Amino acid sequence: MAYDELIFPKPVFHEKIWGGRKLQTEFGYQIPDGPIGECWAISAHPAGDCVVEGGPYDGRYLSDLWDKEPQLFAGASGDRFPLLIKILDAKENLSVQVHPDDAYANEHENGSLGKRECWYVLSADPGTRIVVGQNAHDRAELAKMIEEGRWDDMLYTVPIKAGDFFRIEPGTIHAIQGGTMVLETQQSSDVTYRVYDYDRVQADGTTRELHIPQTLDVVDFSLVPPESGEVTAPEVDGITELMSCPNFSVVRVRVAKGATATLKQEHPFVCVSVVEGEGGTVTTPAGTWNLEKGSHFLAPATSGDLAAGCPRSRRRRARGARPSLPCVTVRTDCYPTTGGPRLWGNVR
Ligand code: ZN
Repeated sequence: MAYDELIFPKPVFHEKIWGGRKLQTEFGYQIPDGPIGECWAISAHPAGDCVVEGGPYDGRYLSDLWDKEPQLFAGASGDRFPLLIKILDAKENLSVQVHPDDAYANEHENGSLGKRECWYVLSADPGTRIVVGQNAHDRAELAKMIEEGRWDDMLYTVPIKAGDFFRIEPGTIHAIQGGTMVLETQQSSDVTYRVYDYDRVQADGTTRELHIPQTLDVVDFSLVPPESGEVTAPEVDGITELMSCPNFSVVRVRVAKGATATLKQEHPFVCVSVVEGEGGTVTTPAGTWNLEKGSHFLAPATSGDLAAGCPRSRRRRARGARPSLPCVTVRTDCYPTTGGPRLWGNVR
């Protein structure tokens, strides 16, 4: 078995009441009919386990590789693949929610881990904002605002634009609003408490469950909300570290037209998502693969370094058309983990 080839999972799409069609129109995916909100691009979660396309693992589930081919993820541990990489297309507002930290989830959600997530903004309609915190100072004030439905007073929002980045700590009330596409990296645990759902009624006439007592328990009033999602970390040779936490780091890599960037592979595995540009190639000691906007792949522990190349001009352009964009990829490096047995938590 070749343990050095890149692994291309086939995305799994999820219909959501807030979803749209941009996963097709902007990213070229063949998606089912209806409002499609989520592309689970790299996932071994039971609610959307990706099948590998091509190469020595063609047709196998990512969860199966995690279970049976540990050499691919050498250094990572735990009973489940630890990360989940998604693209979200929010045509309408997502429900306002909050995730617990590890301690609370362990006690109240059958030993599950808490959840940390982050968003790289792919596109945003003009004037769009995002919920990344709340204005109450303590539990009593928050409870009162929720009871009185003073959502505009309670929710802390900031304007967003493409290229912004938000780190969502456990205990942060958060929501993506309509008109936004993001690339989301998260721990593959999904304990979610829904605070507010805009009083929406589903197709079957019911409303989605809310979790107010849990919300009041887990909101962290010591967190200071960000003033914006502007990335202030330095960009060195096209590479910007967007965040780092004990479980993973997220790095943006911009490859200029006609250039090649080397992505060091010194982690148990690396997930790469091409989110902008006309595509190009990635070369490792094992071979060369073509990439396009919307490609996602996983570089296993022994892939060796990755050389991401962006062609000078890939397609013929009409006179006066916008020049081709540089290629932008976002890589998520999995850190060695000691994820315990109940990594998934309750999927709500
Ligand atoms: Zn969330």
